[in-house]
Amino acid sequence: MKSISDPNQTTLVDRSLDAVWHPCTQMKHHESLPLIAISHGKGAYLFDEQGNSMLDCISSWWTNLFGHSNPCINKAINSQLEKIEHVMLAGFTHPPVVELSEKLSALTQGHLGHVFYASDGASAVEIALKMSHHYWRLHDQPQKKKFICLENGYHGETLGALAVTDVAIFREAYGSLLQDVFTVPSPDSRKAQASESAEDVAKQAAKKLEQLLEAEHQNIAALIIEPLVQCAGQMAMYSPEYLKLARALCDRFDVHLIADEIAVGCGRSGKFFACEHAAIWPDFLTLSKGISGGYLPLSLSMTTDKIYRAFYGDKIQQGFLHSHSYTGNPLACAAALACLEIFESESVLEKNIARSADLAKAFTWAKEDTRIAHWRQQGMILAFDVQPEYLKNQASFAREMFSASLAEGLLIRPIGNTIYVMPPYILSAEQTMQMGASVQRALNRVLA
Ligand SMILES: *Cc1c(COP(=O)(O)O)cnc(C)c1O
Repeated sequence: MKSISDPNQTTLVDRSLDAVWHPCTQMKHHESLPLIAISHGKGAYLFDEQGNSMLDCISSWWTNLFGHSNPCINKAINSQLEKIEHVMLAGFTHPPVVELSEKLSALTQGHLGHVFYASDGASAVEIALKMSHHYWRLHDQPQKKKFICLENGYHGETLGALAVTDVAIFREAYGSLLQDVFTVPSPDSRKAQASESAEDVAKQAAKKLEQLLEAEHQNIAALIIEPLVQCAGQMAMYSPEYLKLARALCDRFDVHLIADEIAVGCGRSGKFFACEHAAIWPDFLTLSKGISGGYLPLSLSMTTDKIYRAFYGDKIQQGFLHSHSYTGNPLACAAALACLEIFESESVLEKNIARSADLAKAFTWAKEDTRIAHWRQQGMILAFDVQPEYLKNQASFAREMFSASLAEGLLIRPIGNTIYVMPPYILSAEQTMQMGASVQRALNRVLA
């Protein structure tokens, strides 16, 4: 049995290491890597227990859009708290969930007019996968049950979502628990040869998808993709041409298209939905992370009227019998509504055009740095790769860079040799420039 530490004798960090099993972490690494105890946040800054501040360049794991302790979102949650904090969504409804669903539907011009809620991103992915599978069953095509995913894609870590994820480190231990899927090449524009464009790479990848669909479409329910940026897959970016081609192929072969916009949605790509860059709509679109402004767990899967209708009938089994206890939580929906309100009242998407230009300017140094390859940007995401020959220790680079950035007052969290920033939509041009310069100093220190 484990002993319980005395709160008066130990620091918060030691108590945390003792009692909290932290996510996505080899706990032993905390013997050398500091665990940071956060006392509060304000705007783009986090403050630790010692009063040190750090600029949150990764939006607290890609969730925070309008800063920590945002007055508008705080107010919306507080005001909802006075009314109803939670009620089951089976048999009941409430204003925030209705208004949020209507607003989201309007943002797709009614193409995706039915919204099913959950709490975490992975659950929204599970919902889209299950709905697609169930749809084909209801259409007397139960053999259409396999999924296609992209090489290097990421859709979450529950067993269904992990099956369509192709990031080795997350799958390794659990392969035997996962259903079989088809994996097709990623249109990652880093694959372009000297004379090729990102569009060429997209076309080649789509060709492979076409070949698979030709052979297997009778057994396939859906293709799942992350539009434009494979975020967990080292911020691999690709041409919108692939989205157009994938949409056309899914139509031709009668296969659903699931667009997982959990990371790239909510304005991150430069438009509210990344699919808008290709002027397409998927059959399912998942959102989470930014939708509640990084305040509360909220995820959702939007779909078309055609799919919704297939589940509508007299028999209970024809319905979509999936649920989570906190489905459509009113506080989380109120936070999401406040975010949509900020998007509108502050013309966030328009202002983000200037903010992404600032971001590019702040990292011009990296474009010119010979130690760096594949400088890339999509809206409010900017990434580049440190060439492996400059790394002293590939395995520990990300952690060393994390620590060096902290010393510069920045929170960044590289993925392998990829350094990226994905800041909240509130930085001034000056703060953005400082961020770029600090990342450069941290990198110089690590590579020295
Ligand atoms: C983060 C993420 C998920 C999983 O969301 P969780 O809330 O962590 O379960 C799924 N898909 C994409 C594209 C993501 O970035």
